[in-house]
Amino acid sequence: MDKPSNLHFLESPRRNPEEVAIPIRVREWGEIYGQFEDEGAADQSARCINCGIPYCEWQCPVHNYIPDWLRLVRQGRLFEAADLCHQTNALPEMCGRICPQDRLCEGACTLNDGLGAVTIGSVEKYITDEAIKQGWRPDLSDVQPTGKKVAVIGAGPAGLGCADRLTRHGVEAHVFDKYPRIGGLLTYGIPPFKLEKHVVETRREIMEGMGIRFHLGVEVGKDVQLDELLADYDAVFLGMGTYKYVDGRLENQDLPGVIASLPYLIGNIGQVLEEPLEGFDYVNLKDQRVVVLGGGDTAMDCVRTAIRQGASEVTCAYRRDEENMPGSRREVKNARDEGVQFLFNRQPVAIVGDDRVTGVKLVETQLGDPDEAGRRRPEPVAGSEQVVEADTVIIAFGFRPNPPEWLTAAGVQTHEDGRLIVAAEGRSEYQTSHEKIYAGGDMVRGADLVVTAVYEGREAAHSILANLGIEAPTAQHET
Ligand code: FAD
Ligand code: SF4
Repeated sequence: MDKPSNLHFLESPRRNPEEVAIPIRVREWGEIYGQFEDEGAADQSARCINCGIPYCEWQCPVHNYIPDWLRLVRQGRLFEAADLCHQTNALPEMCGRICPQDRLCEGACTLNDGLGAVTIGSVEKYITDEAIKQGWRPDLSDVQPTGKKVAVIGAGPAGLGCADRLTRHGVEAHVFDKYPRIGGLLTYGIPPFKLEKHVVETRREIMEGMGIRFHLGVEVGKDVQLDELLADYDAVFLGMGTYKYVDGRLENQDLPGVIASLPYLIGNIGQVLEEPLEGFDYVNLKDQRVVVLGGGDTAMDCVRTAIRQGASEVTCAYRRDEENMPGSRREVKNARDEGVQFLFNRQPVAIVGDDRVTGVKLVETQLGDPDEAGRRRPEPVAGSEQVVEADTVIIAFGFRPNPPEWLTAAGVQTHEDGRLIVAAEGRSEYQTSHEKIYAGGDMVRGADLVVTAVYEGREAAHSILANLGIEAPTAQHET
């Protein structure tokens, strides 16, 4: 587009690509957000005032060069924008779709102060999707093979972030995952209405084109042992996620009709893909009254999945207020738009039922003093119990790290809560207590975000490169 006026952010209001209408989207599994046309992306990018202090860039966990790629989009230099996006982020098309931008880059945008933040996420998605469609691929022609090879355990965002960065520096990356597809929770967790699975498959093709080798359907500790990997590779990176459920210890929680969030979501994804994953049954909640307990991203994904399955009523009960929900604001809005009822300040006390669940007993809460994490503690209000009727209750209280025994047996130390210890005294960033083993993502941070896992995979790769004596230039950005 022509050089926009300095006041373009006033002339052209913040606009996202069109969303699929609510009555249609709740009957389908596809993503709900459309794609910018070239002009739309350029117009929205031109709203960036290049404020000189890129708060957006700082607040983005991978520190994307946001104002720079916005400028390239405005100038129609799509492939250069795609190159620049990939300098900091191995999975920009995923982050553009599912980062909680409202509390990251867009939340920090100067224009967020009443004028409407630049639509950073949608532009990021446009850049990658459109460039790939037009034939853009990462250019690794300058990369010199180093003769080194690293085993990456886990093909989730952390493992992919690490493998991408290693490959760009001439290290052979071999990624092992127990599941048949790459992506970790991107594939087997996050529902297709937030992230269609062909997007992950396209990324797999790109990564294979870069030379990354995937060994899928291979469980480390069962099909191949850690010792073998340690013997065969120059280093091992662990990005195995966190999968142990937080147990709410509710009375009667073992009753039929009470189900755990992630198996429910995985079973549904298997059904949508027509590719069931062994051990994860499909549960159809059509015509049922469903109560989901919890207020994070997983809870939002469960309520919206139940709506699409045709549940007759879907309620989310959360023990704090809306302000203090851990899930993305955008997802809460989407859930509400799609017909989910919210009960805030309600803590579950017990599951109700004899042979099968018939409801859940909730007590009202008020918020007390902040806990160690700074979030105000919910305190039950005496005598305020109520029973909400339900045919199915889904428990979505979150996840705790669950490092396998073979890891601790190998001398990898953990914190008391199961998170892996990295960068202890005498160790590099993301290096565990075992000299040859590095780790990042949810198994180090605890359950968090895709973008933070990508960041840790990337930074762990830098540590590995340095310790293998390979120069790892910091990302260049010449535009
Ligand atoms: P994972 O994605 O969990 O990947 C770990 C991989 O390791 C898996 O593929 C697993 O199969 C593999 N693995 C484990 N053990 C072995 C073994 N022994 N051998 C071989 N392979 C193994 N974040 C967002 O930013 N936005 C969202 O909207 C969002 N929604 C979410 C919705 C749900 C339902 C859930 C559960 C999480 C969501 N998150 C979201 C969080 C995000 O998905 C995670 O923080 C992120 O995927 C963590 O990446 P990771 O690579 O550390 O682990
Ligand atoms: Fe924003 Fe996430 Fe993209 Fe960073 S990676 S610019 S936080 S959407």
